[in-house]
Amino acid sequence: QITIDKIAAGEVIERPASIVKELVENAIDAGSTSVTVEIKDGGISFIRIRDNGCGIPKEEVKSAFLRHSTSKIETVEDLSHIASLGFRGEALSSIAAVTRTEVITKTKDSDLGTKYVIEGGKEVSLEETGAPDGTTFLVHQLFYNVPARRKFLKTPMTEAGHVQDLLMHLALSHPEVALQFLNNGQEKLRTSGNGKLKDVIYQIYGRDVAANLIELDYEKGGLRITGFLGKPVITRGNRNFENFFVNGRYVKSGMISKALEDAYRDFVMQHKFPFAVLHFHLNGEEVDINVHPTKMELRFQKQQEVYGTVFEAVHRTLLEPEL
Ligand code: ADP
Ligand code: MG
Repeated sequence: QITIDKIAAGEVIERPASIVKELVENAIDAGSTSVTVEIKDGGISFIRIRDNGCGIPKEEVKSAFLRHSTSKIETVEDLSHIASLGFRGEALSSIAAVTRTEVITKTKDSDLGTKYVIEGGKEVSLEETGAPDGTTFLVHQLFYNVPARRKFLKTPMTEAGHVQDLLMHLALSHPEVALQFLNNGQEKLRTSGNGKLKDVIYQIYGRDVAANLIELDYEKGGLRITGFLGKPVITRGNRNFENFFVNGRYVKSGMISKALEDAYRDFVMQHKFPFAVLHFHLNGEEVDINVHPTKMELRFQKQQEVYGTVFEAVHRTLLEPEL
């Protein structure tokens, strides 16, 4: 089982950001309104994630770390939904297989919490402990037992950058969650959790961007697009300003980028890229889920139609009078 977990971990966990992604998504699934992420050494030696969610009942802590212990899949629609959001009950077992992990967790209706320590997939201890409501994961020494994979990690600075990018995207897709990120004790990101996307944009990108936004809300053929565009006065020399989310999940799509940039063509200089945070809401079955879960590049079944809708939505919004 441990060997299988180590192999599965190779699929799920590439780098510290993969761990942070799984743990923060779990925290959000657990109904947390506040999540704090701390890393040291790019997350290679230390990741701590604290949430105020529902916690894990004592009798379920061990099984949460078993592969496929959680079966949320009940229908075919569920399957496409889950495949688009992530893994099915593999994250904790995979993380535990390649790190030294400690979890302290408590549910509201329990007086005492539980502390569980697991190293390289092997249980070290399970005991009762005093703890606040919610869950704290401590993940140490990524790949300490898989030197071959450790070699592929980049510098702490690069790995920290991946964690920060990921948390930025999670913040933009969850304005209702107060997210805080500390790197080596320094606060790098803090959102209020007040539910307003515009405020999250301000908290991430600052005043210059927040003061130059145009709201977008457009619907056509079962596709709804919401979010904010930057006025043509704010541009960048690369695509890092473009943020797309499909049904709540951060994605990359060359097609959406192209539709967006084509719609801006008459408004910005060549080789300049617009600021955008766009959320796409559509039936999950219209998105091609047959891609590796850690890859974010996605395809729509109706690529051409989606291109047209994005172009139209953006172009019309840019032509609105207040501009
Ligand atoms: P999945 O999220 O696909 O169910 P995971 O391995 O990520 O699989 O998590 C296993 C289970 O552990 C979850 O289904 C959930 O019940 C529990 N769990 C994990 N993290 C948390 C958390 N932060 N708060 C509450 N429960 C959690
Ligand atoms: Mg999960």
